[in-house]
Amino acid sequence: MEHNSSNFIRSIITEDLETGKRDNVYTRFPPEPNGYLHIGHAKSIVINFGLADDFNGKTNLRFDDTNPLKEDTEYVEAIKEDVEWLGYEWDGMFFASDYFEEMYNRAILLIKKGKAYVDDLSADEIRQYRGTLKEPGKESPYRNRSIEENIDLFERMRKGEFENGTKVLRAKIDMSSPNINLRDPVIYRVSHTTHHNTGDAWCIYPMYAFAHPLEDAIEGITHSLCTTEFEDQRPLYNWVIEECEMEHKPQQIEFGRLGITNTVMSKRKLKQLVDEKFVDGWDDPRMPTISGLRRKGYTPESIREFVKETGVSKGSGTVDEAMLEHFVREDLKLKAPRTMGILKPLKVVITNYPEDQVEMLDAEINPEVPEMGTRQIPFSREIYIEQEDFMEDPPKKYFRLFPGNEVRLKHAYFIKCEDVIKDADGNVIEIHCTYDPETKSGSGFTGRKVKGTIHWVDAKHALPAEFRLYEPLILDKLENEEDSTEQVSSEEKTFLDFVNDQSLEVLQGFVEPNMKEVAAHDKFQFFRHGYFNVDPKHSTNEKIVFNRIVSLKSSFKL
Ligand code: ATP
Ligand code: MG
Ligand code: MG
Repeated sequence: MEHNSSNFIRSIITEDLETGKRDNVYTRFPPEPNGYLHIGHAKSIVINFGLADDFNGKTNLRFDDTNPLKEDTEYVEAIKEDVEWLGYEWDGMFFASDYFEEMYNRAILLIKKGKAYVDDLSADEIRQYRGTLKEPGKESPYRNRSIEENIDLFERMRKGEFENGTKVLRAKIDMSSPNINLRDPVIYRVSHTTHHNTGDAWCIYPMYAFAHPLEDAIEGITHSLCTTEFEDQRPLYNWVIEECEMEHKPQQIEFGRLGITNTVMSKRKLKQLVDEKFVDGWDDPRMPTISGLRRKGYTPESIREFVKETGVSKGSGTVDEAMLEHFVREDLKLKAPRTMGILKPLKVVITNYPEDQVEMLDAEINPEVPEMGTRQIPFSREIYIEQEDFMEDPPKKYFRLFPGNEVRLKHAYFIKCEDVIKDADGNVIEIHCTYDPETKSGSGFTGRKVKGTIHWVDAKHALPAEFRLYEPLILDKLENEEDSTEQVSSEEKTFLDFVNDQSLEVLQGFVEPNMKEVAAHDKFQFFRHGYFNVDPKHSTNEKIVFNRIVSLKSSFKL
């Protein structure tokens, strides 16, 4: 979605303004604070904030906190941080729970109009009575209680006279409606649970389907954008607005959910991964959470651009994670300084280089952006190269180091492998090379050519660093037919079976000494290895910890 390009929601809004149905645009992003935000939420954020911005409208951040059992202030704080980090500023910040009194009064109004009743059926019975798509529902024996009795019972529910699950308030609509959502949906339940915001003030809580339209109406929301699983609830949404006599009438519009391959994207599942310690917290770099992507090294720009590219439509789409990676690569290409790091070190001794000599070499910080200037790299007699850049017995077309072969050390000299030192078990522990002083990088040497260029760091001056490389957290291309309407599918029981136990590889290596001053979240392109982020949690003065954001190559094409 280019903001100024068209999509069906934008067309609706444009028409609403042109016909005078609306004279402003007011959206909201309404997360339930029962987990951290994920990349799917980023889509909702970009759409809600983005559309409002385009029409000079406003957007609220609203915590949809009507279920005290699952909600927590930790999540509220994390959500605020993530929305701000993505680059959006809300106009108002509200809690649905701030409207509990008003919602209660609207429920009383419904009762007085004969449009709601207290039901003593159990949750199971209510489900059974509701019927199926093929057969109509059955009316509860409590459906025809008098208005007086209903008011009395509902007031006593509020006072705490009834146990959890013994009484609910239901909207009185139509038990034979073809839309099951209209078969007298429950709108209040008893729950003796402390709420993160209202504490113990309430022991009855409104259901989402009742609360959400009221929240929108109270805040003056014009276009209430949600995902398509709520499409069937739209008639109920409108019923609540009408029957509760809300002055302001918002309009619900649904768009398709975003899914990504090789991950799961439901807060319930993500929480399970955290609780059962498959990952080290909600912000583990393998998580599809905003905080995980941030810790891995994603930029807000790359996430926003990615989301826009996925577009706005009615259909939900699962996109390849390679597409997300494409956008961060694009974003960092011109921003990230280049550097060299050795992930799996192999010592190289340059036998003809003077023992105590150290020279400083010049290297561009980013050849695509000359204004970024140069950095200095020390070079001396002992260096580290990658283990995989040496083979004693190479196959054809291996152009890196092997006995007798010459390669270019990036930013330095040509070196030639003269000798291989092994331990008692025959493992290669050191390589002896000679260098040719004539071949210094930048000297204009053209005497002969080599096919391989490898990277290195100076052994004496290099800084120790840890590199964390990530693979997908979920192995199979699980379809994320997400559904926040609390359905349990068979996939639900088994997604943990698809968790990749090789999703993290930790390597101890070295980086250039000019990295001494790096700060959390600094991003670099390590020559040949890809883009890395300084981990904000585990990096210390003694050892820098880098998360690989993405490797350099991609098969992905837009
Ligand atoms: P989950 O099922 O992952 O827990 P949810 O829909 O229950 O998500 P909410 O906190 O209710 O999470 O979501 C806030 C807003 O973000 C809602 O409007 C919801 O529709 C939207 N949203 C959630 N997941 C996605 C997604 N994958 N793609 C697009 N929008 C999403
Ligand atoms: Mg949910
Ligand atoms: Mg939800």
